[in-house]
Amino acid sequence: MLKRIAVRLLCLSMTALGPLTTLAQQQADPDINSKIRHEEGSHSQIMHTMHYFTDIYGPRLTGSPNHKAAADWAIKQMKEWGFENAHLEPWDFGHPGWTNEHLTAHILSPVKDQLACRALAWTPGTNGTITAKAVQLIPPDKPTQAEMDAYLNSVKDKVKGNIVLAGKHLFVKVVIEPTPRRSSDETLKKRYDPNNPEGPPQGNRPGNREQEPPDPTKLTARQINEQIDQFLVANGAVLRINDSALDHGQIRAFNNRTFDLTKTVPTVVMRNEDYGRISRILADGTRVELEFNIANKTYPEGSTSYNTIAEISGTDRKDEVIMLGGHLDSWHSATGATDNAIGCATMMEAVRILKAIGVKPRRTIRVALWSGEEEGLLGSQAYVKEHFGSVEDPRPEFFKLDAYFNIDAGTGRARGAAVFGPPAAAEPLRKALAPFSDLGVMGAAATRGRNLGGSDHTSFNHAGLPGIGVNQDPIEYFQYTWHTSLDTYEHIIEDDAKTSAIVIAAAIYQLAMMDEMLPRFGKDDMPPLPKPSPETPAASQPRPTGSQQRR
Ligand SMILES: [Zn+2]
Repeated sequence: MLKRIAVRLLCLSMTALGPLTTLAQQQADPDINSKIRHEEGSHSQIMHTMHYFTDIYGPRLTGSPNHKAAADWAIKQMKEWGFENAHLEPWDFGHPGWTNEHLTAHILSPVKDQLACRALAWTPGTNGTITAKAVQLIPPDKPTQAEMDAYLNSVKDKVKGNIVLAGKHLFVKVVIEPTPRRSSDETLKKRYDPNNPEGPPQGNRPGNREQEPPDPTKLTARQINEQIDQFLVANGAVLRINDSALDHGQIRAFNNRTFDLTKTVPTVVMRNEDYGRISRILADGTRVELEFNIANKTYPEGSTSYNTIAEISGTDRKDEVIMLGGHLDSWHSATGATDNAIGCATMMEAVRILKAIGVKPRRTIRVALWSGEEEGLLGSQAYVKEHFGSVEDPRPEFFKLDAYFNIDAGTGRARGAAVFGPPAAAEPLRKALAPFSDLGVMGAAATRGRNLGGSDHTSFNHAGLPGIGVNQDPIEYFQYTWHTSLDTYEHIIEDDAKTSAIVIAAAIYQLAMMDEMLPRFGKDDMPPLPKPSPETPAASQPRPTGSQQRR
């Protein structure tokens, strides 16, 4: 109770009386924002960083040698920029690393053509070229276990030695009215208005949308998927093909969720257009022959993965820390440019700018490039557990983290931010962002959600720490680049990334210079931990129907 009163008084003094803010601003460099803008405008390194993360080291699947090499390069680069204490922090991933090294796919009969595919991660290769007949399985829609058993029993003799198209081809409708590439100022102003009764944004990821409660008598998409895998292994199929079910040739390949190569046959995700063509030829009753050659490799040493950490040391409040980061790991269908090399490049750049213009922050500024995000926020959760614990079971560092800024929604420029904390926590952030309305930044809000999902700031929110999610313009993210074969360097808008780096550098600086840390929830007003969901904790995990439903 005492704590709550203290927070209210602090809030009042900042908004109405202003002595604390005035004091903080006296210590902060009044010309800082123009120095930050100038540094980024004239010496930006973002696209250089992007070239290394994507062209040289992409894709960066957790546990793969590519991810490790990208992390090593980032350490070297940040040391060259003068960051201190740059190091890799190991955490236990518990699965071997996996890479696809070679994949060719062709239809040999009744026509000859190449096919566009990506391998599903943590599945085996073909051990050389294989040629086999194609068959298609079309299980009943939303089956019960009994219906699924009956169906699989009826097709038992069809799969041995054959290549199996698993599931009906999805007819993807042409999008007549594309969604806007940028958010409107009006919508965002309303969203960040502290007096808006609708409250702050709850995120714009597909995974954050309300989902219908599952019917317990029906199998989930995940259960159907697993049962087909088991069935194909048990009955001697030679390869499985999934429909990418996306438009314009995009392929989104996730992983075999057991991470155990013996639990699946070699598996690819095929572009919707090729999957549709083969499905229609099979429906004519014509024999189809396909040829594949897939070489995948596993790396036992990948079971230890690494978070990439570096700092600018603070001065009089050195033991208090402002963190910022994004995830360096990616999926493997492309080079992971918008998800999330650009987030890492932006956060590295924000700290590089501050270092280059010679700031001496009061608090320590620490950048973190996570791994294991795509498999369920694993790296950031391990870090939070190791360093901070949680409000329910805090470690000493728990009380020294001022905030953690996360960016992970593609190439779009930063338009605002949401901080986990009481309404007063948004106020210093709102003030720090206010000078950037000319760059499209529309404000800040406070949130109360402790659910894991979306991205790494929720690992902090979940622990009761002030995680800050940066809201960005959508550009093409969820339409085209998120986890797809189109996620390449070409889809980065350099000017947007530079803008985000400027805004984040400025916000980090202001927080690092304030007299007080951000107001936090106390023990009395901390939202309770949500009940763990029986399914995956991370929104970035495979959601087989999510993107398809949106089209
Ligand atoms: Zn991401």
